[in-house]
Amino acid sequence: MATVTREKFDNIIEIKNVTKVFDGITAVDNVNLAVRRGEFVTLLGPSGCGKTTLLRMIAGFEMPTSGTILLEKQDVTTVPPHLRPINTVFQKYALFPHLNVFKNIAFGLKLKKIPTGEVDKKGRPVYRKFTKDEIAEKVERVLKLVNLEAYGYRDITGLSGGQQQRVAIARAIVCEPKVLLLDEPLGALDLKMRKEMQSELAAMHRNIGITFIYVTHDQEEALTMSDKVVVMTDGAVQQYGTPKKIYDEPANAFVADFIGESNILSGIMKEDFLVEFCGVQFKCLDKGFARDEKVDLVVRPEDIAISAKKGALGGEVVSTVFKGTYYEMEIVAGDYQFTVQNTTEYGVGSKVWLTIEPDGIHIMKKLKTVNSFVGEVLSENTVEICGGEFEFENTDGFERGDEVRVLVPFDKVELTDDEDDGVIGANVTQTLYKGSYYQVQVYTDDDQDFLVDTVDEWDIGDRVGIKINPKDLTVTRKAKTDNAETDNASQLDNMPEGEEESDE
Ligand code: ATP
Repeated sequence: MATVTREKFDNIIEIKNVTKVFDGITAVDNVNLAVRRGEFVTLLGPSGCGKTTLLRMIAGFEMPTSGTILLEKQDVTTVPPHLRPINTVFQKYALFPHLNVFKNIAFGLKLKKIPTGEVDKKGRPVYRKFTKDEIAEKVERVLKLVNLEAYGYRDITGLSGGQQQRVAIARAIVCEPKVLLLDEPLGALDLKMRKEMQSELAAMHRNIGITFIYVTHDQEEALTMSDKVVVMTDGAVQQYGTPKKIYDEPANAFVADFIGESNILSGIMKEDFLVEFCGVQFKCLDKGFARDEKVDLVVRPEDIAISAKKGALGGEVVSTVFKGTYYEMEIVAGDYQFTVQNTTEYGVGSKVWLTIEPDGIHIMKKLKTVNSFVGEVLSENTVEICGGEFEFENTDGFERGDEVRVLVPFDKVELTDDEDDGVIGANVTQTLYKGSYYQVQVYTDDDQDFLVDTVDEWDIGDRVGIKINPKDLTVTRKAKTDNAETDNASQLDNMPEGEEESDE
């Protein structure tokens, strides 16, 4: 067994049940997260998922609505930013244009007061400023770290975007913070410069050994640079783990879709290690599901073997594109369309067989299996959910004012182009192709979400109406203990997965 030092596994930051609500909008929703000292942790997710808000709360620029933030076990939830040993690098460099590189970096050092270790007559600690030589030495050291050794006396305005961002990083690390926060620091750079800076940043992290918390919406950037990735959506953490774990074993369909190319399908767990999809049973490595439990599953395009010889699943190639080192083919097999990557090309129209090894199939629990809301009966045949009055078949004799639970299967929700044709209006926030249909997530104006299985393609941001046939609402009496608004999967335990991998 590896010997593990306490230092290595020491959590420098702990985020406990942190929620941030802005004017009724929940930007960060009950996040729990522990970051270990010296790690490079990336917050990854689509625009608006709450990454920046979470980072700003760690920095102290925002205060959580509820929850606590601990830094080295001390509660810093309400401590102002300048009193936290944390520094932030933003996408916009915010350098002083009238100062040269050296002076930009030295600026914070000149202001810094350092304890001498002595006390005055009244017992108060005595502080001093850094000397000129100390400042010069520190600035030279960080200039070297960011590969700008010869640039100290250059004007800021004459530097490229990448060089300016390096100065911003140097300025942030020169005061030796315990944690460096980086908010999309490469966002303003062109692709080539981004790539260069990605490897430089990873090297810098290794060299200076301080904890980095990095925000990006670019999954490749997250997977290549980080020790751990936090995948977020809708203010909540969907998965926290090593890049490998997140890629190979996504916790749910959202993570699988967001991280790289994937085939996401619905399947049924027949028994431990056996899953059925596309009408065929496949061996897999997953167990612990109920018999016949509906699951999501992901198969990466590179994990599907394709051959003219008989295999598990027959299909036909409908498109093929050369991607530099391999061919990417779309293959229709039964009701599903698979994306397959292979170094051998099979032309459009080819009849082929697909085979998937057990370790190429990853089973995920369905986040939700049915839309579920708490509602109130408004009349003999109408019930209020999500701010709308929906008709239902009142076979149980519910009365006006009764609190009820209302279930609606995903494929029984109808989305309408014209919002006015629906009972309530909503915005499309996510769409996921599941091989033979789309699973669309819509947010109602009442801040609730519906999942909708549909063959129609919708775009994120589309405004839609929601209609439900009265016979498709299942209305039951709300149990006394039933307090949850929906049956959304509760937040995962956000201690990172795959910890054993970091113990190397
Ligand atoms: P992006 O990548 O686009 O910056 P993000 O994942 O960093 O997105 P946040 O900036 O944290 O997301 O925003 C999360 C949600 O909170 C969004 O709906 C945003 O509009 C809202 N929000 C953030 N800051 C504020 C604010 N100061 N006032 C009101 N709403 C805010």
